[in-house]
Amino acid sequence: MHSGLVHSLDFDRAGKTLTYLSIPFSIDRSPYFQVKVPICLIRNGEGPSVLLMAGNHGDEYEGELSLARLIRKLDPDRISGRVTILPMANTPAVMAAKRCSPLDGGNLNRAFPGDPSGTPTSRLAHFLEGELFPRHDIVFDLHSGGTSMEHLPTALVERNAEPARHQRAVALMKSLGMPYGFVADNGAASPTSMGAARRAGAIGISGEFGGGGTATVDSMAITARAIDSLLVAAGVVDEPVLAPPNGAVGATQLLSLSRHSQGIYATRRGWFEPATRLGERVAAGQLAGWYHDLERLDVSEEALNFAEAGIVISRRLHTMCEAGDCLMQVAEPVPA
Ligand SMILES: [Zn+2]
Repeated sequence: MHSGLVHSLDFDRAGKTLTYLSIPFSIDRSPYFQVKVPICLIRNGEGPSVLLMAGNHGDEYEGELSLARLIRKLDPDRISGRVTILPMANTPAVMAAKRCSPLDGGNLNRAFPGDPSGTPTSRLAHFLEGELFPRHDIVFDLHSGGTSMEHLPTALVERNAEPARHQRAVALMKSLGMPYGFVADNGAASPTSMGAARRAGAIGISGEFGGGGTATVDSMAITARAIDSLLVAAGVVDEPVLAPPNGAVGATQLLSLSRHSQGIYATRRGWFEPATRLGERVAAGQLAGWYHDLERLDVSEEALNFAEAGIVISRRLHTMCEAGDCLMQVAEPVPA
């Protein structure tokens, strides 16, 4: 077998099944090697079906650790319907602590709809969009800033042309308890998991839960609350699973990130020193930071200013930058 993706999933089986998706990929060490992607199916009777995934990018740990814990904690007797958990979707990237797969350089969140005879990342994308996503009412894909970026906690949905489905997605997004949320317009052919979920007929929900290639007390708490809230809102469970109930969920401030002028980009090699923090409200023209040139100590650092007003939502963590690196982004608060 040298093509496709192999599995023995039985979606009708009751109880908890922990197994693998296997993607053949011949390598020097092992001619019949298979990439093993863990997947957990939990079923109890009829009801809603929810797919939870993380590790779409390998170095985004908040979702990976939370979903690994959920696999262990979620008792099939507590649920109604079906929960599928893919805690480290691009497993080779997770094992290498990288954003993209070291096997093929594949960025899973740019690989949809994929190719059944392509690279491992492309085959996985094809299976997810064509086989797995269509079996679920809701697909929740957990991201974060990864190693190179810190990100304000934000939920995200992509605009759905069907008004009823779009309203359901926005309502579910607001149920997560996240302080901020985006409605992105990535178009019908979006190569992201959210585009794939929409094309597969599922409601797609995503979000950024932290970053820096790490997990913190705060980012893990916000991730646990979002997963619990989604499972409760979907009607899969009656009570939170990962964390005890912690009071009323606050309102989600909707944001818009739709113009390249909302980001500050490096245009040459340099070293960036921020002058603002994540979550700050900034005005157009306000100082964002300074760009140093450690190779030209006689040259003053350059002041970099925001072109647009808004809330600072992300920042590059690595101080040294190359042309093309995004240093900061501001998003525009918009009415709900
Ligand atoms: Zn990501």
